[in-house]
Amino acid sequence: MKELLYTVLELEEWHREIENLPCEFCTVLFSNRNKAVCQIRTRSKITHKIVESDFVCQECKEKFENDQIPKCERCGRLRTKSDTDVITGEYVCRCIKRKENTEEKELPVLPHEEREATFYERQINALREEKDQLTEEVETHLEALEVSEV
Ligand SMILES: [Zn+2]
Ligand SMILES: [Zn+2]
Repeated sequence: MKELLYTVLELEEWHREIENLPCEFCTVLFSNRNKAVCQIRTRSKITHKIVESDFVCQECKEKFENDQIPKCERCGRLRTKSDTDVITGEYVCRCIKRKENTEEKELPVLPHEEREATFYERQINALREEKDQLTEEVETHLEALEVSEV
């Protein structure tokens, strides 16, 4: 599987203007349209190319953050409802539909070729990781305090 970078981003202005943009992870046909609140951008860690950009509702965003959204075993894309066959219920990933060669060697992007968007997405991810670590540390300290107070 290719190494991918997933970033949760706020919806862009023009996306907000479209009313009821459906979530791509839980919307089945046109019933059950959950309004998208964010998008998850998937990029190749090597080439920095955007592999996918999926709209996501609040509920599915939380699932994604808890690692509960399954990924394609071949390419690492997040599994969306639109890639599930309505009749058979079978999941057919876009990498299969597009006949992508997932084994293909990719050329790494050079630092000066890195685009601004990618740079910011990496920053966002790094900061989120740092925040999670800090939260964990604080919790550990608090627990230690509680124990010593008893
Ligand atoms: Zn959803
Ligand atoms: Zn795939």
